[in-house]
Amino acid sequence: MSVKDNLLKIKAEIPQEVTLVAVSKTKPNEAILEAYEAGQRVFGENKIQEMTDKWEALPKDIQWHMIGHVQRNKVKYMAPFVSLIHGVDSLKLLKEIEKQGKKHDRVISCLLQIHIAKEDTKFGMDAEEVTQLLASDEFSQMQHVKVEGLMGMATFTEDKNQIEEEFKSLAILFDNLKNEFTATQNLDLKTLSMGMSGDYQIAMKAGSTMVRIGSSIFGARNYN
Ligand SMILES: *Cc1c(COP(=O)(O)O)cnc(C)c1O
Repeated sequence: MSVKDNLLKIKAEIPQEVTLVAVSKTKPNEAILEAYEAGQRVFGENKIQEMTDKWEALPKDIQWHMIGHVQRNKVKYMAPFVSLIHGVDSLKLLKEIEKQGKKHDRVISCLLQIHIAKEDTKFGMDAEEVTQLLASDEFSQMQHVKVEGLMGMATFTEDKNQIEEEFKSLAILFDNLKNEFTATQNLDLKTLSMGMSGDYQIAMKAGSTMVRIGSSIFGARNYN
């Protein structure tokens, strides 16, 4: 199947209100353009350098999402154009994004990454840390970031029940935070980013509003 066929098949499975992020990391510009020509505008990358190169080369109405772990010293490279940063996992990182947003006179949309997997390899905050961040004076004073929701990755396992439990726990945290924190100029909890090629059906059932799908659209990745 072509990239276009894969994309249209997945779009047909996803309800209108769920945003599809086409994860194009490691894939060439030609593959991205094929998806673009089939109507896709939101793409996800996990390396800032690669995303910046693609942003420079490709149509300017593409919305670039940073879905990978972000190093603070690299925020500046994507600050002029990034449309959503999924992996914000500390107040320190959010402060750097605020600083770079100010420098570029824009508000940078962010999701806070929550650690839901039973693996140490995945990044993210726990419920207490995210609550502290949202309640902090430092966050309340920021004017160049907007926290729009949460992101999480389930454990890499065949156990569908475990994946479902992890996504459900994230959805519950999301609801609790929405009740606890009313919307402000820099906070509007509306996006729950969870689900990848192997588990997006489970994630959508658990309440995902944004799925990040790579290999099911572009084919398996070769890392070398
Ligand atoms: C690579 C990646 C994806 C997409 O993975 P697939 O299994 O290819 O769909 C989604 N989210 C994150 C954070 C990723 O790094």
